[in-house]
Amino acid sequence: MTKSTMLMLPGDGIGPEVIREVRRIIDWLTRRRNFELEISVDLVGGCAIDKHGVPLTDETMARAMEVDAVLLGAVGGPKWDSLPFAIKPERGLLRLRKEMGLFANLRPALCYDSLVDASTLKPEIVRGLDIMIVRELTGGVYFGEPRGITTLPDGQRQGLNTQVYTTEEIRRIARVAFELARTRSNRLTSTEKANVMESGLLWREEVQWVHDNEYPDVNLSHMYADNAAMQLVRAPKQFDVIVSDNLFGDILSDEASMLTGSLGMLPSASIGAKGANGKRKAMYEPIHGSAPDIAGQGIANPIAAILSFAMALRYTFDRAADAELVEKSIVNVLDSGLRTGDIMQTGKARVSTGVMGDAIVRELDKLGG
Ligand code: NAD
Repeated sequence: MTKSTMLMLPGDGIGPEVIREVRRIIDWLTRRRNFELEISVDLVGGCAIDKHGVPLTDETMARAMEVDAVLLGAVGGPKWDSLPFAIKPERGLLRLRKEMGLFANLRPALCYDSLVDASTLKPEIVRGLDIMIVRELTGGVYFGEPRGITTLPDGQRQGLNTQVYTTEEIRRIARVAFELARTRSNRLTSTEKANVMESGLLWREEVQWVHDNEYPDVNLSHMYADNAAMQLVRAPKQFDVIVSDNLFGDILSDEASMLTGSLGMLPSASIGAKGANGKRKAMYEPIHGSAPDIAGQGIANPIAAILSFAMALRYTFDRAADAELVEKSIVNVLDSGLRTGDIMQTGKARVSTGVMGDAIVRELDKLGG
């Protein structure tokens, strides 16, 4: 059997601090579950600018194209804020997404029982919440041409962006969403504005086509995006998987993730086309940034990064049982009352990044035998 491969890009700020804890989970899986993972570690973002003058070197990009998965920490920070846009730390991330062709962004929104009070919604609305938002990431109005700001003959300025999608762009993201639905509760809600946008009508027709021809067993419903935004705060548990275009998905995924509380708890995956090895290109990363306000203090929450790695176990490495083990360990540690500062509640024990990592590894020991 060939070894699985991963490129680790811890990045800046709290990135290296949270990725260090992921390393400990991987070491545990290697020791106790025979998970052979070949890891290369490299620079991205501000630290790459400091060393090489660019946020991502060609060599690192080439490695990212070779491996089964990339795991990223976070990039950016005040030190590099005044750089020109073309060489800012975030350009490293954008280059990875673009050259790896990562067209699908997966964001789970899961509400842990022990953190139910961290949500701004009533406990009964969010308790047990488990939804997945699939957002199209490389098309639509953020990339459509023509675009720009022009001055009209009468002197007014006009801003223009173009919402554009093709059959294939819609079908490929729909397939990712249908496949995910099959591994969950088999329900998919597709969102658009077919009532007022032609691109929305095409979206609806193509998602329906993929359903009828390839995934007739999945329970598909269509919903206008504005209604979906409302339903997400009214009754979010009605959803399982939601698929959306780039613009509506941007908004719906942020809305859904905030149902569950802290930034330090939220993982994500970005998925591309299948390569020669039959695996989809993939990059996993916590949603949070480099948190310069707490970097270097050893107090960041490592759970978003660890959960991002659990997504890699499930979606790239076909190790769903190990993913469940990691997720269950996190649930148990939270139930035991340990909290990093970002999820601190009265009566609970405030712990550092490392102590949270220790506790998760100890729980793995208990659960994994
Ligand atoms: P941020 O996510 O870094 O931080 C927002 C707030 O949440 C801060 O108060 C921070 O301390 C807290 N926080 C975030 N993650 C946490 C964790 N794991 N544990 C505990 N607290 C946590 O967003 P920001 O402050 O807007 O941006 C800071 C830098 O990160 C900027 O340079 C920005 O460009 C960059 N950024 C990078 C990414 C990325 O790498 N994907 C994403 C967002 C922002």
